Amino acid sequence: MKILVPVKRVIDYNVKPRVKADGTGVDLANVKMSMNPFDEIAVEEAIRLKEKGAATEIVAVSIGVPKAQETLRTALAMGADRAILIQTDAEVEPLGVAKLLARVAGEEQPGLIILGKQAIDDDSNQTGQMLAALLGWGQGTFASKVDVVGDGVNVTREVDGGLETVRLNIPAIITTDLRLNEPRYASLPNIMKAKSKPLATKAPDDYGVDISPRLETLKVSEPPTRSAGIKVADVDELVAKLKAMGVAA
Ligand code: AMP
Repeated sequence: MKILVPVKRVIDYNVKPRVKADGTGVDLANVKMSMNPFDEIAVEEAIRLKEKGAATEIVAVSIGVPKAQETLRTALAMGADRAILIQTDAEVEPLGVAKLLARVAGEEQPGLIILGKQAIDDDSNQTGQMLAALLGWGQGTFASKVDVVGDGVNVTREVDGGLETVRLNIPAIITTDLRLNEPRYASLPNIMKAKSKPLATKAPDDYGVDISPRLETLKVSEPPTRSAGIKVADVDELVAKLKAMGVAA
């Protein structure tokens, strides 16, 4: 079974994003970029399934600027076998990404596509679900456990207040939650080896997909700064203040 893992190059999770002065978006100039953390979890899960003998090949795919190659090389250094970069300077919305991935799935015929549950730059949480709909495949979203059993896959999902386990027929879509696994670091020898693993470069036009935007970002703003707190003398004063605010009865 082949596993396809879409990986997105995003602003590093340690970086505090700066909003552009004109409010049109986040300033990416000279900002550290990395693989979306949920996608690292997806790559790790695919590698573990291969190590268990449930998968034979892992193909990483990224849609983005030429530098997204670095993200793909990271996936290769972690243990993916080959990579596909669908290169574009345009900002591709989740629907466009899902349409491109559906075409790649048509060519590659994977048994599983494991995506992150969301990209930490746009927080859309849409691509996996849209891809499942476009392909007509079952989906196990927000996975905290994945077991390939027979000709299906059991996915334990994190839901409000508990866990739910669903069984999906293969081929299927899985999206990863934080607690699924702890991704490995690529070792130096594997980083060197990754340089010679195959990486194919394509364009959205090669797949005949229209990636023109359907949405317009009207405004991006910083979160409001927190106002300073006050110290209260004792619990009685605290309760009185909470009552006055309508927070306590
Ligand atoms: P989103 O729906 O934007 O929150 O993204 C959810 C997941 O879709 C990500 O964690 C990735 O696995 C995948 N994805 C989104 N955008 C891209 C992209 N440009 N290239 C590759 N994978 C992507």
